[in-house]
Amino acid sequence: MIRAAVSGAAGRMGQQVCRTIIEDPDLELVGAVDKAKEGEKLEGLLGIPGLGLKIEANLDKALSSSGAEVMVDFTHPQAVMGNIRTAIAKGVHAVIGTTGITKENLMEIESLLESAKSNVFIAPNFALGAVLMMQFSAVAAKYFPDVEIIELHHEQKADAPSGTAIKTAEMLRAGSKEGKEQESIKGVRGGLYNKIHIHSVRLPGLVAHQEVIFGGQGQTLTIRHDSIDRTSFMPGVLMAIKAVKERPGLTYGLEKLLEI
Ligand code: NAP
Repeated sequence: MIRAAVSGAAGRMGQQVCRTIIEDPDLELVGAVDKAKEGEKLEGLLGIPGLGLKIEANLDKALSSSGAEVMVDFTHPQAVMGNIRTAIAKGVHAVIGTTGITKENLMEIESLLESAKSNVFIAPNFALGAVLMMQFSAVAAKYFPDVEIIELHHEQKADAPSGTAIKTAEMLRAGSKEGKEQESIKGVRGGLYNKIHIHSVRLPGLVAHQEVIFGGQGQTLTIRHDSIDRTSFMPGVLMAIKAVKERPGLTYGLEKLLEI
């Protein structure tokens, strides 16, 4: 049995992660942390009777009192690094879904882990189909060097572009065509990262979607993934919770757990 605590437990992803942990016979949900809804009973929030857990606001205390072995974090880009530092300092393994983690953050985590007893697993996208979309795009980029990325998410998303779009741009040995156009509306050609144009769409009704569009002579190739429900991320989150203990240091990307 792996004892897991969820940080961001009252959020959209956090609630789903709590449900998934509760349903898994190999896992035990021992803590629920969130800065919203402090003191509220988790059973009321999830609609699952008999849980006996309340939302706590202090991660440090919650990790100590719950005896959690793994912290799962789906909070906010501005909160996640503090939570990772707390988990590492307490010798608790961390599985991180929160996006907005920079290259500098990754370097800091690696250096903190050199003298730590715990490990960290980070995936900008826990959906298997999204991981495959990135892998297929990396293959396509060998033959189609001209590419643009369109990512589409729900209107409450805190960061833009998405962590998935950034990771995809890092994985592609390709770039967007240097246009000669003058932008008559600033930003209309999207943002440039790793020489690739990224366009972020935010609308109610969306969950998490991405298109990678390649252009070639007389043809285009579009690789698209859609998460139409937050349950799409759960198999990947479970894999990470069960694997993090056995993977020393920092693991970045769900593809590290898949035989691709
Ligand atoms: P959300 O609904 O806003 O949930 C986040 C929750 O965390 C909120 O209840 C928020 O409280 C709370 N929170 C913020 N700062 C905190 C802190 N310091 N300590 C404890 N709790 C804190 O957001 P979401 O849609 O669940 O997404 C959460 C993160 O997961 C985002 O970064 C999103 O991009 C990412 N995500 C990743 C994947 C993946 O596969 N890796 C998939 C989907 C989403 P307040 O509302 O009071 O701020």
